[in-house]
Amino acid sequence: MGGAVVNVGPPLWLLAELTYRCPLHCAFCYNPVDFAAHDDELDTEGWLRVLREARALGAVQCGFSGGEPMLREDLEVLVAEAHRLGYYTNLLTSGVGLTEARAQALKAAGLDHVQLSFQDSTREMNDFLSHTRTFELKNRVARTIKDQGWPMVMNVVLHRLNMDHVGRIIEMADALGAEYLELANTQYYSWALENREHLLPTRAQLQAAEAIVDGYRKQLEDRMRLFFVAPDYHEGRPKKCVNGWGSMFLTVTPDGTALPCHTARMLPGLEFPSLRTSSVAEAWFASEAFNHYRGTGWMKEPCASCERKEEDLGGCRCQAYMLAQDADAADPVCPKSPRHGVVLDAVRRAEAGEVAARPLVFRDPKASREFLARGDALSLPGCGR
Ligand code: SF4
Ligand code: SF4
Repeated sequence: MGGAVVNVGPPLWLLAELTYRCPLHCAFCYNPVDFAAHDDELDTEGWLRVLREARALGAVQCGFSGGEPMLREDLEVLVAEAHRLGYYTNLLTSGVGLTEARAQALKAAGLDHVQLSFQDSTREMNDFLSHTRTFELKNRVARTIKDQGWPMVMNVVLHRLNMDHVGRIIEMADALGAEYLELANTQYYSWALENREHLLPTRAQLQAAEAIVDGYRKQLEDRMRLFFVAPDYHEGRPKKCVNGWGSMFLTVTPDGTALPCHTARMLPGLEFPSLRTSSVAEAWFASEAFNHYRGTGWMKEPCASCERKEEDLGGCRCQAYMLAQDADAADPVCPKSPRHGVVLDAVRRAEAGEVAARPLVFRDPKASREFLARGDALSLPGCGR
């Protein structure tokens, strides 16, 4: 399936998800809900091999992510090797574990840039959403990042519970000296999908937030760049997932599985290659899983004859699987999808303020094991599950 593979270039962006361990418990966490089943982490040698092979193929950017990558004691070793190989290196962290001593060691190892996540601008909401007392710590870590002279990207995932604080979030980022602020609306996968009825904002919230961001964008243009990533549920326009399946991004999970995006392992019938036994080149160019959704040859109607198919490549395969129970279908955020009603219904419920009866599920190993035990990791009403 997908067979006609034309002009497959190398992966340019390597995302090394070093661990699923994380001290935080974010209700919108992008790690898979069954992460507890995949906790056998690659060792240092395994990661060094991945870094070398991906760089030899042509990868130029390397993000160290997780979970919380600071929990890996060999992070400095991996960063040093990535730097030596010529990658532009980026650390994506919650801040926990980024002490001054480790910041100095990472700087010496050649780390180029740090992305620090906050959950909100107030201690109460930051700590509620992450289910930890980490707000003060994140403020200290922001100062440590600046002291090391790193450019700082601050990242705040937006949703119904913090959307109205967007002005305060921008002011906080400015006060802490962030050069970039990414305000990414929640994508409803994984833990965020489980919590969608709590997290999906109203259209009015979104419009107000976007207007505030536009105002600050002009005011702060000389010192901070603001990125506002709009949510696809409200826009009704599918997004080209990871710039095209297997076209640019390579994610490697903590156990060494190669994926075209960090949630693709949920898709049924695809066997993603393990880099314990495959080379990066074999995984990227030759594996059935990476070739399966490359290009447009795999599409069926309505995508197959759609004028936008090269532009959005049918949207997200994981979203199609989660919301239409068919990974080959059009992404249901598309108005042409026969399952678009699921998305409209979710937005209608958000507009009507119909909040879920069940409480928020916070991401942690116990909740993950419970999902595994029940075998119904995607149990949302309206998902057809
Ligand atoms: S989203 Fe939160 S819980 Fe998930 S890995 Fe990041 S900091 Fe940890
Ligand atoms: S029908 Fe398919 S290709 Fe066309 S806009 Fe919708 S998702 Fe994109």
